[in-house]
Amino acid sequence: MTWSMWLVPPFVTSIFFVLGVITLYWSIFNWVTAKVESQKKPVDVKRVQVWIGAICAVVSTFGLQMLVRDSHLSWTFTTFQLLILIFVAYFLQVRIPYWLIVLASIGFMLMNGNILQPLSWLYTILFGLFYVVSYIQSVRMWPRPFIRYFVTALLFALVLWGIVTLRFDLAWTTYVEEIANYLILAALMYGYFNIQDRDRRIKDRLFQAANWDALTRVKNYAAYDREIGYQFYHSVSRHRNLSMIMFDIDHFKHVNDTYGHLAGDEVLKEVASTVTNLLKKQNEQITLYRTGGEEFNVILPDADLVEAQRIAKLIFDAVAEDQVDYNDIAIHVTLSIGVSALAVKDRNPLDFYKRVDANLYHSKKNGRMQITTD
Ligand code: GH3
Ligand code: MG
Ligand code: MG
Repeated sequence: MTWSMWLVPPFVTSIFFVLGVITLYWSIFNWVTAKVESQKKPVDVKRVQVWIGAICAVVSTFGLQMLVRDSHLSWTFTTFQLLILIFVAYFLQVRIPYWLIVLASIGFMLMNGNILQPLSWLYTILFGLFYVVSYIQSVRMWPRPFIRYFVTALLFALVLWGIVTLRFDLAWTTYVEEIANYLILAALMYGYFNIQDRDRRIKDRLFQAANWDALTRVKNYAAYDREIGYQFYHSVSRHRNLSMIMFDIDHFKHVNDTYGHLAGDEVLKEVASTVTNLLKKQNEQITLYRTGGEEFNVILPDADLVEAQRIAKLIFDAVAEDQVDYNDIAIHVTLSIGVSALAVKDRNPLDFYKRVDANLYHSKKNGRMQITTD
């Protein structure tokens, strides 16, 4: 028996095809997000999902249908199309505008050569409705999602496959068999997608925990270390400005000792949030990092010393004017700040850092509550 005689039931092929499309989607998705992340750009996960999902769906659906269009077998991939619809609408929550659904449906009928068939129109309208219902079900997050998912998938398939059976005059055994296969695949897809999605969420959480400070919700030392390495060599090679501000809360131990550790935590959160809001208004490129207990760094790409000093003064004033309310007590803190800009003599990020640190140290030694610049 040669390989061409080794027939596999369509159901088995369908399993691998559906899983194949989803796996292809995840692989491309992970590749694109990793690529964007490596370029230090923020990843809009939802957008990437929508685009890759829509492309995979359109290419696979239209591509397969091309093989059987305009023939007595053009119903062959109905189950596959229903599953792709569920995948895009329910799992990826791709919001396709209604006009585009109508346009794609008409395009599909034109390609199939059945635009003049009333049953095809009925099928297409219900297909569109299935899309809308699946999408709404997915985003509403009602209880018992699997049962809702399964019942919706079943009801629409019964009607849609019913239309196909009528139109192509298929045997009722074919109808039952197709529905049964479809339901198994729909359940399988639910499980498979959720496993993949959980993996993705775990990865996101790990990334979050590794780069963000849990208390103040600003980036942490690990993120700072990576970013300063990147910014340093990027700025040196392109002859661009780069500045850094480092600040430390004055007598913070006193806050802890007087009002308690929780009060100290509140102060840290408040300082971080005040500075974050201030920086956001100035320039989205400037980032705050919590690099130690009550010590923070600010990296300012493309900023010269004058600009860095201006920002440092804004931070200094904002924190000094701020008041942290904790259990009816108003706590005030001040900062000691060091500022510096990238210099020709800096051979590595550490040289640059040491100068900023020395300036901060100078502010402390000189009586605190002040800014020291080069
Ligand atoms: P200086 O003006 O010289 O900076 O004095 P200081 O008291 O601010 O500095 P010191 O380094 O002596 O003390 C810093 C304190 O910050 C000690 C530590 O217990 C406290 N600290 C570090 N991390 C946290 C935190 O996450 N929460 C709270 N509440 N305190 C923290
Ligand atoms: Mg301190
Ligand atoms: Mg300190």
